[in-house]
Amino acid sequence: MSTAQDIPEIAAALAAFIADGEPYTIRLDPPLDLRALAAELQLLPAMLDFGGCLGLKRNGEVASFTWNEPHSLRAEPDNRIRNIVYYQASLKYPGLAPLVPRRPADAVTCSWCGGSGRHLAIPAEFADRFVCCCGGLGWLHE
Ligand SMILES: [Zn+2]
Repeated sequence: MSTAQDIPEIAAALAAFIADGEPYTIRLDPPLDLRALAAELQLLPAMLDFGGCLGLKRNGEVASFTWNEPHSLRAEPDNRIRNIVYYQASLKYPGLAPLVPRRPADAVTCSWCGGSGRHLAIPAEFADRFVCCCGGLGWLHE
C-alpha cells in the first residue's frame, strides 16, 4: 500500500488510537480487540453501532465492516454517510476537525434537528447518545 496519499490527520489519529494502551474490547463472542483490528485493517473507527463499524482509511476513504465479518471492509458509497462519518470522527479525534465537510451552498437544513445537529424529538438528556440523520452537521446534501 502506498503511503504517499495518506491524509496526515487521519494517519496520526489512527497511530494514536492503535498505540493507546487502554483496551478497547467489543463484547462479541469471542470478544473483539478493536485496536488490534484497527491496526490490521488500517481503519480508524469513527462510528460503532449494533451492526458494525464505520471508519476512515488513511487515504481518507470511508469504509465499514460488520461485527459478523470484521475482516471484510466495504467502501461506503453514500455521500451523506461519508459526511456523517467525518463529522462524528472529528468529535472523537479533535485533530480531524480540519477535515469536516463544510456546508455546500445548495445543502438543505436538516428538518429533524432544525440545523442544530440535535434531534428535536429526543429528550435533551439522551440527545448526546443519539446521532441525528444528518450526523450532527445540521444539513443534508445529495
Ligand atoms: Zn439533523
